[in-house]
Amino acid sequence: MSKPAFKFPEFEPGSVWLVGAGPGDPGLLTLHAAEAIQRADVIVYDALVSQSVLDLTPGETTLESAGKRGGTPSPKQADITLRLIQLAREGKRVLRLKGGDPFVFGRGGEEALGLVAAGIPFRIVPGITAGIGGLAYAGIPATHRDTNHIVTLVTGHDASGEIAGIDWEALARGSQVLVLYMALKHLSEIRARLLSGGRRPEEPLAVVRQATTQDQQVLVTTLGDCIDDVAEAGIQPPALVVLGEVVRLREGLDWLSALDGRALNPDPLATPFKSSD
Ligand code: SAH
Repeated sequence: MSKPAFKFPEFEPGSVWLVGAGPGDPGLLTLHAAEAIQRADVIVYDALVSQSVLDLTPGETTLESAGKRGGTPSPKQADITLRLIQLAREGKRVLRLKGGDPFVFGRGGEEALGLVAAGIPFRIVPGITAGIGGLAYAGIPATHRDTNHIVTLVTGHDASGEIAGIDWEALARGSQVLVLYMALKHLSEIRARLLSGGRRPEEPLAVVRQATTQDQQVLVTTLGDCIDDVAEAGIQPPALVVLGEVVRLREGLDWLSALDGRALNPDPLATPFKSSD
């Protein structure tokens, strides 16, 4: 019996697809995302969506930046949602393309609820979130049996842009591995609170910037030294911060550098940790 062929869902005019574009490498798009890029009439994209993903857009498709529309540098979330509703009501196939996964610190839920309120049909297409896929490109697994049974994805900002709403001391005690999004701005305060919650200054910490893109940059340091080392390396957002023993596995799993001839260590956890990369 022949297997049923995969059938791409109909992208209906007047509907909105909220689609994760993954962390940057276009090879990490889902089949749904890649196909939707071909079928959309208009693509409303975030600043985090990589240029190489946008380059897949057919010439006749309208590309609209959600970050720069109408000359305003950063439109309010409500304005973006209203724009999606307006385009859908014009009968367009609207592709809302967001970095990583739309439901992981991506406000996808807020936009989708706006569509629900307006009665606009929509579909969610998950994407590879930077905190998992981006770390994998740096050779750092989110979990590994010998290091952690728990991993926590945390944002370094809360809705007010501050870190007041997060109990960092409890996180320090409760999660062996912390993956921090949007954390560079408040790293100094986060570091202080994780130390006061009992994390060791010599614990491995990595910062991964522009993960999965041609410009990927990885800094391996410690919780104690991270502020000085990030400043010295001049690392700017967007970047992920990962704290925990999993960072040591990079010595063995940095497959990207291995493609360039770097020798990998098959037993990194048995080797004393060196913070220089
Ligand atoms: N929805 C996205 C996250 C949006 S929040 C996702 O699932 O990945 C924005 C933050 O995500 C950035 O400040 C940065 O911390 C992280 N981020 C997104 N893409 C990244 C990338 N390619 N490299 C490093 N960090 C990234």
